[in-house]
Amino acid sequence: MSLRRSSRLFKSTSTVTAIDHVNEAPLVITEKKQKQPKRSRSPSKTIVTKKSKPSPIKKAKIQDQFDEPAHWKTVYERIREYRKTAPAPVDTMGCERLAEEQVPEKVQRFQTLVSLMLSSQTKDTVTSAAVKTLQTSLSGGLTLNSILQVDEKVLDNYIKSVGFHNRKAKYIKDAAIILRDKYDGDIPDTIEGLTSLPGVGPKMGYLALQCAWKINAGIGVDVHVHRIGNRLGWCDTVNGQPEDTRKQLQSWLPKEYWRPINPLLVGFGQVMCLPRGPKCGECPVSDLCPSAVTKVKKMKNMKEEEKVVMDQGNNIQVKMEQVEEEQDIKTIAFAGGHEPKLIKTEKNPLDW
Ligand code: SF4
Repeated sequence: MSLRRSSRLFKSTSTVTAIDHVNEAPLVITEKKQKQPKRSRSPSKTIVTKKSKPSPIKKAKIQDQFDEPAHWKTVYERIREYRKTAPAPVDTMGCERLAEEQVPEKVQRFQTLVSLMLSSQTKDTVTSAAVKTLQTSLSGGLTLNSILQVDEKVLDNYIKSVGFHNRKAKYIKDAAIILRDKYDGDIPDTIEGLTSLPGVGPKMGYLALQCAWKINAGIGVDVHVHRIGNRLGWCDTVNGQPEDTRKQLQSWLPKEYWRPINPLLVGFGQVMCLPRGPKCGECPVSDLCPSAVTKVKKMKNMKEEEKVVMDQGNNIQVKMEQVEEEQDIKTIAFAGGHEPKLIKTEKNPLDW
């Protein structure tokens, strides 16, 4: 090893221990630590900083339980009475009414499932028309077999008026294959089986069980039930999802109401408690709804009043005079604050 190299090695060592052969005592030679060169702050150098991971979207923790709201039965009954006089699209065009009566029950069940799959993000009138088109245009009518036979593009064209029709056409075709292969051509009779089908979420699953199998396993919560449930104070899922609403409603609502509550509130939401501009002023439950506020306005009116006066000859005269009168006008308005916002983090908006 060359001297240069060994000296470089020596320098790089901060402390060296040698043996003093005379005294056999360890001799410690300490050398000053070499200063480390300062790190250049040259702008040409790229400083790599570790990117911090974006914090995950925090989903509010929603309780599954909700205390039975006061007066809910009165509210329910009043809405039911009101709905008898105010027909809504869901009454005639709801998914449970779209299957043909003359076809076998198995086919009816399939038609109900297809109707539900078409109904998400789509108005009842449009869904109903699309189901009619399938029933009359598909060779052999709307059956599992005809869906298996039809080309996906042709199916898509039949249902082109509904929202997300191309995705729904694929879901229906894929679901039909699963029904043929796994369920003997029928629709599943469990929520797990139904929600395992593509494009079928809990709302559709519970409604399909109720309508097609007469099984009451849960409430079908759609946007109307989700919105009105929160407005009425029947649940507190403003920061939650329809599934949270379902669990809270089911925690206190007697089971016999689980099926009728969907068409009741859907229709109410279509004609009275609208998503935007609910008609609180005409609403039969405004006095019990926490989302409605009563505002009192002072209005000034002019009215005529009789006034008795004496004329110059001391004769009594009656005159009509215009006087100002204040009047309280009560108006009922929507207070808001109970409006659920749908968080778009769920797997698929069509899966309700
Ligand atoms: S008072 Fe207004 S917000 Fe409350 S249920 Fe009636 S329409 Fe809906």
